[in-house]
Amino acid sequence: MSEVKKAIIIGAGPAGVAAAIRLTKHNNISCTVYELRPVPTTLGGAIGIPSNGLRLFDRLGLYKTLSTKGSESSDVRIHFAQGGGVVEAESVPKEVREKTGHSFMRVKRVDLMDVLLGTASEMNIPIHFGKKMVDITEDENTKSITVTFSDGTTDTADLLLGCDGIHSAVRTQYVDPPCQPEYSGISGTCVIFSTSAISAEKFESLQAINVCFTTEGAFALVPCTAAGDEIFFVFSRKLPIPESGDTKDGWEEHRKKEVESFKNMLLDGVLQSVRGKWGEVLTQAVNSTNSVSFYPIFRLPLGGKWFHGRCLLMGDAAHAMQPHAGQGVSMALEDVFLLSRLLKNKDSSLTEVFEKFEHVRRPRINRIYETAARNGERRKQTSPWALWAKEWIMWAGILAMKAVGRQQTLISDPEDLVYDIDAVDI
Ligand SMILES: Cc1cc2nc3c(=O)[nH]c(=O)nc-3n(C[C@H](O)[C@H](O)[C@H](O)COP(=O)(O)OP(=O)(O)OC[C@H]3O[C@@H](n4cnc5c(N)ncnc54)[C@H](O)[C@@H]3O)c2cc1C
Repeated sequence: MSEVKKAIIIGAGPAGVAAAIRLTKHNNISCTVYELRPVPTTLGGAIGIPSNGLRLFDRLGLYKTLSTKGSESSDVRIHFAQGGGVVEAESVPKEVREKTGHSFMRVKRVDLMDVLLGTASEMNIPIHFGKKMVDITEDENTKSITVTFSDGTTDTADLLLGCDGIHSAVRTQYVDPPCQPEYSGISGTCVIFSTSAISAEKFESLQAINVCFTTEGAFALVPCTAAGDEIFFVFSRKLPIPESGDTKDGWEEHRKKEVESFKNMLLDGVLQSVRGKWGEVLTQAVNSTNSVSFYPIFRLPLGGKWFHGRCLLMGDAAHAMQPHAGQGVSMALEDVFLLSRLLKNKDSSLTEVFEKFEHVRRPRINRIYETAARNGERRKQTSPWALWAKEWIMWAGILAMKAVGRQQTLISDPEDLVYDIDAVDI
């Protein structure tokens, strides 16, 4: 039988903290979270959360606070580099917005974590920072699992959740050691800048998800605060593995090169071919950046193991995917809600709970993972002629869909955005 009274959660990212909140509130399970970093992360960037994920934040009781921090809109503007024109589209179609009550939010990662950690703190959920897990053992007699940390302390519970991200130690040391992250072939440079950096008459056009494909890769400029005064800027493109290899040093070399050449590469190269007002906006945005972050995109191969004994992987630890469908955090939340539902059935053993979890989640994860990989391909280098054709095909496609009243979206199929994990048969 699966009665779980206590859970240890490794990792205080979105998956770990959301799991602690949900299992405490909904399942009356006593949760303790252990995080490797010495303090809550202040690492930057912004996270896009579409309707399927926002609905779960709502059920978690966090949506209201989140909406005071992030910018929510479904408007997308695709700016044509070659033609200088613009076409309006949607990230979340009207029908999906009506069914879910939500559209698409972009929120700074640090704000998202503030909301999650603040709620956990109000609920007195213990979160211990600076804790490095070194060992996991199970005892069949007491039906328990024990985690040992590098400072010699231990903790024992009925259930262990590995929510420690793509480089998960729980996965590599306990659940599925051979499963290692792989480079997706795409890297990005990003920065958050103030709208005051853009002159007023151009600024109006930034209050939407702004996308522009070029011959070298894609730009996105998205407001990420409720006041709309800060913009998340990202340029992503195909980039090969460093010449010196897929190693920490190799990527550090790549990072330095990309960050140092960022302004020149864009201002003297890519942006020369972006016409019209939008080219000026991008130029001002690039000129306003002082320091940018470089991130190569890694993912986990599909098909890895998700559980072993009394331990389950969730979020990126189980199924890290490319961010190009904006679904990583939402997938973590869907994991959390499904586990919470399954644990309500006290007649099932933990193994049965985990098997059911995998049965429900596997097809959904595979589908979103493939969508993200497909979306990522749009960033690949093209010739000016191929870009010209791509822009016109996109323009014609969007207008044709609008003309026949079909729902269209740039990030995921409408059925994926309306998906409700709480309504799935289990
Ligand atoms: C550049 C980029 C852009 C992205 N954009 C989006 C987006 O727009 N929308 C979206 O939904 N997703 C996006 N994602 C993906 C999203 O960040 C992840 O899916 C999400 O953070 C997963 O949450 P998680 O809690 O599973 O893992 P993480 O956020 O990685 O959190 C894991 C936590 O575990 C901790 N940890 C690691 N190892 C240990 C250990 N051994 N012991 C204890 N703690 C440990 C880490 O310090 C961290 O705090 C993006 C990712 C990247 C890289």
